[in-house]
Amino acid sequence: MLRYQVKSLLTDPSAVIPVEEIIEREQMTVAGEQVKFLTPCHLQGQLKNIGNGIIRFVGTLDMQVRMSCSRCTKDTDLPLHAAIEQRYIADRQQGEIEDDDIEIYENELIDLNELVESEISMAVPMKVLCREDCKGLCPICGKDLNEGSCDCEQEDIDPRWDALKSLLQRE
Ligand SMILES: [Zn+2]
Ligand SMILES: [Zn+2]
Repeated sequence: MLRYQVKSLLTDPSAVIPVEEIIEREQMTVAGEQVKFLTPCHLQGQLKNIGNGIIRFVGTLDMQVRMSCSRCTKDTDLPLHAAIEQRYIADRQQGEIEDDDIEIYENELIDLNELVESEISMAVPMKVLCREDCKGLCPICGKDLNEGSCDCEQEDIDPRWDALKSLLQRE
């Protein structure tokens, strides 16, 4: 799966190989965060010979995932999208081109697995919020502050009272 025989592209420069794949994933961990897939990953695009033996894949990747809100840990569903562009060159030609972004392929076979894997990871946001103004959890009692405030919060809120209290105690 996700491996394409590109011989036809090399012999016929106008040829195009359409790519349309449904990739089933259950879950993965990105930077310590659990990512649960609610839909399969939909990969769409095409492989094309762009000259000098270079084959280019251009496409998109779309899926729905469930992650934890960075502030309150509530399950949060979000779409992930990636626009992908990757160029490949045959192993026997790799010395001809100086380009660090180009990938090597062997035996006229291009394998998109690694590309898809890294694009999914990169599409995962660093920070996920269940809603823009999520208030998060109380750091002391752990209460979800979206559902209302807690008692410990009030003690923290006004440090002036502490100053006054210690002043009164001194007298
Ligand atoms: Zn939240
Ligand atoms: Zn609290």
